[in-house]
Amino acid sequence: MKCPRCLNTDPEYFYKGSRGWYCRRCISFGRAMIEEETESPKLAEIADGAQEYTLQYPLTPAQEKIAVQCAQLIDDTSVLINAACGCGKTELVVYSIAKMLKEKKKVCFAIPRRQVVLELRERLAQYFPKAKVIAVCGGHTKETDGDLIICTTHQLYRYYRSFDLLILDEPDAFPFYGNDVLHGIAETSCRGHTIYLTATPDETLCQKAERHELVQLNLFRRPHGHPIPVPRMILGPRLFLLAQLLIWIHRCRDHPRMIFAPSIRTAHILHRFLSVFMKCFLCSSHTQNRDQVIAEFRKQKAGIIIATTVLERGVTVPGADICVWNADSGVFSEASLIQMAGRAGRSFQYPDGDVLFLCMSKSSLVKACAKTIEEANACAV
Ligand SMILES: [Zn+2]
Repeated sequence: MKCPRCLNTDPEYFYKGSRGWYCRRCISFGRAMIEEETESPKLAEIADGAQEYTLQYPLTPAQEKIAVQCAQLIDDTSVLINAACGCGKTELVVYSIAKMLKEKKKVCFAIPRRQVVLELRERLAQYFPKAKVIAVCGGHTKETDGDLIICTTHQLYRYYRSFDLLILDEPDAFPFYGNDVLHGIAETSCRGHTIYLTATPDETLCQKAERHELVQLNLFRRPHGHPIPVPRMILGPRLFLLAQLLIWIHRCRDHPRMIFAPSIRTAHILHRFLSVFMKCFLCSSHTQNRDQVIAEFRKQKAGIIIATTVLERGVTVPGADICVWNADSGVFSEASLIQMAGRAGRSFQYPDGDVLFLCMSKSSLVKACAKTIEEANACAV
């Protein structure tokens, strides 16, 4: 037996109800009946002209090359685009989306995190002015059909075998990463091929590329051509690091500064400590008015924000410098260190940025992160 929705085959999850066998592994999305035929939703035809796009900036030659290659490949195979943070991932799939829409094929852009869905909808609606671009996520589920659907990976259960192209953005991010149910649902929502977009591909994706189950395209050059800032590491006891943090904050005073902490508790302690000396913002998963806090921080020319990994991806603050407190903490993976470091040096005005990792002990992950960034920079030359 196999669940038609989440692809579960473990007999422990199958139950027999009054209507027949159903799967309990994906029960939070409603009952998936095993013996009944699963129906795809009836989705409207793509509007004429939906494929017309306008980009804010023309693609750089490096972006152009990947974007063209990807659009050629997607008819025949799935693609992994490994693009370093700040390389303009979204722009790399615009040709592929346009090509599909022109052929009246259904495209979905799925992302693990809700916040990014809403931001991306705005951006893609600007790129495709004639297309009906809709966001489907918690709080936005009244309308579920459009020419281009942007949704959280949780919402894919609505679209059984509906998409000719599924673009999975940041498949290595929580809560999609390591979640078998969401992976199964993503697979069954797509009848065509998938584009995986990430700066930090996980082991599974790398293995698929090695087995030639998909084609990997790499882009390590940022649009401004400058290398990605490599983190500097300072090692020492807590009090010494606090002094270093104050020195760093002062040294980078002309730019916005983002300080990442490994836990909500540590973020609060740092916030209390720094608030003695200066105004600073705090943002964690417990922050109620998160959007407002980020907006306030952005408004300041050189503000300071202390954040947990809740801000490690997606949030771009032009010209920001980055510090990771206790970067050697077991909470951070190499991917999250790369993502946090990748927040720096993303503006044309200030393409270099400063990244500082403060550590209380030696950490192989911190070293691996610096090495990965150096290798990406070397490949970009
Ligand atoms: Zn299931």
